[in-house]
Amino acid sequence: MSARLLLGRVLSFRDAPREAGERAVRYIERGAVWIADGRIVEVGEAADVLTRAPADAPRDDHSGKLLLPGFIDAHIHYPQTRVVGSYGAQLLDWLNKYTFVEEQKFADPAHAAAVAEFFLDELFRQGTTTAMVYCTVRPESAEAFFAASESRGARMIAGKVMMDRNAPSALTDTPQRGYDESKALIARWHGKGRLDYAITPRFAITSTPEQLEAAGALAKEFPGCFVQTHLSENDAEIALTRELYPQARDYLDVYDRYGLLGPKSVFGHCIHLSDAEVATMAAKRGVAAFCPTSNLFLGSGLFNEKRLQEAGVPVALATDIGGGTSYSLLQTAAEAYKVLQMNRQSWPALQAFYQLTLGNARALGLDDRIGALEPGREADIVALNSRATPAMAHRMEAVRGDLAEELFVLMTMGDDRAVAQTYVAGTPAKASA
Ligand SMILES: [Zn+2]
Repeated sequence: MSARLLLGRVLSFRDAPREAGERAVRYIERGAVWIADGRIVEVGEAADVLTRAPADAPRDDHSGKLLLPGFIDAHIHYPQTRVVGSYGAQLLDWLNKYTFVEEQKFADPAHAAAVAEFFLDELFRQGTTTAMVYCTVRPESAEAFFAASESRGARMIAGKVMMDRNAPSALTDTPQRGYDESKALIARWHGKGRLDYAITPRFAITSTPEQLEAAGALAKEFPGCFVQTHLSENDAEIALTRELYPQARDYLDVYDRYGLLGPKSVFGHCIHLSDAEVATMAAKRGVAAFCPTSNLFLGSGLFNEKRLQEAGVPVALATDIGGGTSYSLLQTAAEAYKVLQMNRQSWPALQAFYQLTLGNARALGLDDRIGALEPGREADIVALNSRATPAMAHRMEAVRGDLAEELFVLMTMGDDRAVAQTYVAGTPAKASA
């Protein structure tokens, strides 16, 4: 039995601080997390945990640093690592000019494997331990990503993109091929170790009605699988979708009518939804992925978190690399705060850190496994240093023991430099800083 003890300031959430207040937060100043065989055995005061844990278990001393559950990214594209920061375009031009060019390279399994390794290294460097990932249309790209994730023991969700029109021919499948290739990947990877499959029609514009029907058939056949796609990101996209699907009541209805809207469906962006769409999302428990850096970078619009939250739509936070500009969920939280500021909405730091951990786990229905530091949960953990840079250390001099203030500094000024260590299933994934 491989045991390990992490010492530090334990912070985990039981509930959303915005609704539950102080009882939502579990904070232990001199805490310890005892892990064994990839899971958490016990969390508590270090003085107590140390009396019960095996005396010979290695101890990682993160005193002064915060120990939190690993971050969860609800929407990200692994083939877009070389698209980040592509200049001057809005969604549809950006796809054609940059993304579709880069994604064609993933027909080469060696390229796919190399990028998958880079991508996972980068996520772990940033404290992200679970992500919901788009691959390309080529099944080889999904194969490479699942294989890399499996070898690292990481909890990941991914799927091959389904796309049969409005894209270069090298990036299109057909309704039948998309169905067959997805089904083969589900058989091979869904539920294997810590991996789950997401049925992934890119969005309405790049799928024919026949393909969305095939995607809906998969969702019905494999109700344990996730569904991921994009929804209502950009005005030109919405107008083109209406032209392509004149029979649909609205954009969301395009997915709903093919059985692609439910509690395991995660929709990237959801910026320009009508009242009827918001009501349908809430009734069917579809999840909205809020991608602030992407929405700002592509000039798509400002996400209205309060409106969705009040309607009862589950919301998750996400980077959306490569439309998004940072792999860091700390930086993503900072940009989310600014977007909500523009909407005159508030987002306290405790709520933000809840969202990055338990909140996103709940939105994805994974909160029985990840998102909290509790006995029995998988040991995906991040150690954060609020004084990681000279400017942060200097700023922290003005913080006198107020946890919420410290967290707000951490998300506003922090990034990968604040990640001292990431643990994936109890194993260190990044050299200690
Ligand atoms: Zn996206």
